Amino acid sequence: MQKIDKIYFDIDVVIRATASPKEDVMALLRYCLDSYPGKIYWLTTHCRSGVNHTDFALRGEFPDEFVDELYAKVLPTEWGALKTDAIDMDSDFVWFDDNLFEAEKAVLEQNYVLDGFFKMNPRDPVMAKKALEFLKSFKD
Ligand SMILES: [Mg+2]
Repeated sequence: MQKIDKIYFDIDVVIRATASPKEDVMALLRYCLDSYPGKIYWLTTHCRSGVNHTDFALRGEFPDEFVDELYAKVLPTEWGALKTDAIDMDSDFVWFDDNLFEAEKAVLEQNYVLDGFFKMNPRDPVMAKKALEFLKSFKD
């Protein structure tokens, strides 16, 4: 993977309820909004099967204007059993999530895109910073 076409974000224990400071999480999201407009997607239980409740999930977590901006700019996905159902396997993507099920891992492997999965450790206080550094490494 040498470029990034799409970025997928989980929410729980990835961008909320993590050990990373909120300002670091916001910096990560800010960078994505500014550098990858129209290429960021929710991949979370708060957005699935045609409903998008990500604004409820994030309200109170970040300033209201930022929650509204995320709701307006981060694109919804539709998935059912597996999050990989929503991932464009033909794209160069990064998928930020704390968890990868065996069935999802198998799908990524079958498509030779396991390197698109970026595991977010919720107990690592510099996790959001590491994720941002990873993204910035593609823009040099
Ligand atoms: Mg999660």
